Amino acid sequence: MRERLTLFDTTLRDGAQTNGVDFTLADKLAIMRMLDELGIDYVEGGYPGANPTDTQLFGEPRALNATFTAFGMVRRPGRSTSNDPGLAALLESNARAICFVAKSWDYHVRVALETTLEENLASIRDSVTAAKAKGREVLLDCEHFFDGYKANPSYALDCAKAAYAAGARWVVLCDTNGGSLPNEVEAIVAEVVKHVPGDRVGIHAHNDTEQAVANSFAAVRAGARQIQGTLNGLGERCGNANLVSIIPTLKLKPEFAAKFEIGVSDEQLKHLAQVSHALDERLNRWPDRHAPYVGESAFATKAGIHASAILKDPATYEHVQPEAVGNQRRLLVSDQAGRSNVLAELDRIGLKVDKNDPRLTRLLDEVKEREAVGYAYEAADASFELLARRMLGTVPKFFDVSYFDVKVEQRSRNGHGHEMLTTAVVKVKIGNEMLINAAEGNGPVNALDVALRKDLGKYQDFIKGLNLIDYRVRILNSGTEAVTRVLIESEDETGEHWTTVGVSANIIDASFQALMDSIVYKLVKSGAPA
Ligand SMILES: [Zn+2]
Repeated sequence: MRERLTLFDTTLRDGAQTNGVDFTLADKLAIMRMLDELGIDYVEGGYPGANPTDTQLFGEPRALNATFTAFGMVRRPGRSTSNDPGLAALLESNARAICFVAKSWDYHVRVALETTLEENLASIRDSVTAAKAKGREVLLDCEHFFDGYKANPSYALDCAKAAYAAGARWVVLCDTNGGSLPNEVEAIVAEVVKHVPGDRVGIHAHNDTEQAVANSFAAVRAGARQIQGTLNGLGERCGNANLVSIIPTLKLKPEFAAKFEIGVSDEQLKHLAQVSHALDERLNRWPDRHAPYVGESAFATKAGIHASAILKDPATYEHVQPEAVGNQRRLLVSDQAGRSNVLAELDRIGLKVDKNDPRLTRLLDEVKEREAVGYAYEAADASFELLARRMLGTVPKFFDVSYFDVKVEQRSRNGHGHEMLTTAVVKVKIGNEMLINAAEGNGPVNALDVALRKDLGKYQDFIKGLNLIDYRVRILNSGTEAVTRVLIESEDETGEHWTTVGVSANIIDASFQALMDSIVYKLVKSGAPA
């Protein structure tokens, strides 16, 4: 019997503290879906009441397999739980679990909270009790636990024990400054689990000595059974423990795999690299090519003796199989790995192709060529599917855009500044019918989109439920020329989401490609006739 370890993701809360990261509601919802599909146990969405995005996020229940968790502070000193607006916002939110944060370092209680040690314990007890009474599962983050323990072990323990005694499901030990070392974490957690059972103890490590992952494992060795972290190690300063490194280590290294099971299945693990890269795309960041397990270079070997040895027996040079995490072996002498990845993707879409089909080679070459100029198919599932379906000859010619024109004007307003006016005209040919649509928009891409979707003749009913929910632009420098990559995320009345991509030296052209793919994808998906 293996023990269950739970994984708690705080990308949307602690990860949102990263310099330069600012999640919109659409970002948060999309990342939540990714985490849920990956098999994470808890998804911490944010801090209801602290900002409009998080308040909106928690404004309605979210259908997740994972436990949707809200974060906030325990009641303020000197207040009752019924008279604390911050706590009230937490209790009213639609979260299934509440993760409270409380001080556990006596110095911080006196200096930062300006209250007594006893009042801080009372605030922990009261807040846990209040959330339990509201039917919520409760976690309590002991802030600065390790530094607190070093300064005053009995008080830090009192905080943990108070939360446990009041009924918290998890007491989470936080290395808030990120300065602890694995041997310290292991020794301190071993002491804590003498008072709070290990299957009620979690670890929340920051990465200030590049050891957040190691500290998480040290805590597990000492008995903790929940690991908190973020995708790609996002987080303020040097980041949080990186779940993208932790998950495959737990799944693939016998030391952990023999003892523990986690919510991520072998099948879900195969999507790990994709999840990691999709998050980077969303943040407009280059994926770290040297990232363990999922980086482009993680299984790359320069051609030569190594390459031929790897072809004979991959195990000679690889610590795990790249396919297990959705990555691939990269050798200059073989494209077999790329072929099996594409085959797996086609299988997922439901397109059956023989592995020796020459069209598969053409598709593979096309994907490689396009990715070389900037297309990102890992992030644009729908564009990949269309490309594959076109190569295999199963996308009807629905319509043609024979002409479009986008105009942006700046007009002065009689000395009162100026206004921008954007219009688009699109000519669409459907069979023998020619339709001309014109529209205004709040920008060139919007105007083009509105004009394109204004009247698609017999297809109009099929695209009625189509919504564009996100639009992301990135300037790529490939060679001497800068090109623009546009990713568009769409959804429809069935709740399905998909992403399409366009690449061009011209941002309007790139946007147009991504828009067209989204519409055509929707028509294919809806079974629209040719
Ligand atoms: Zn933190």
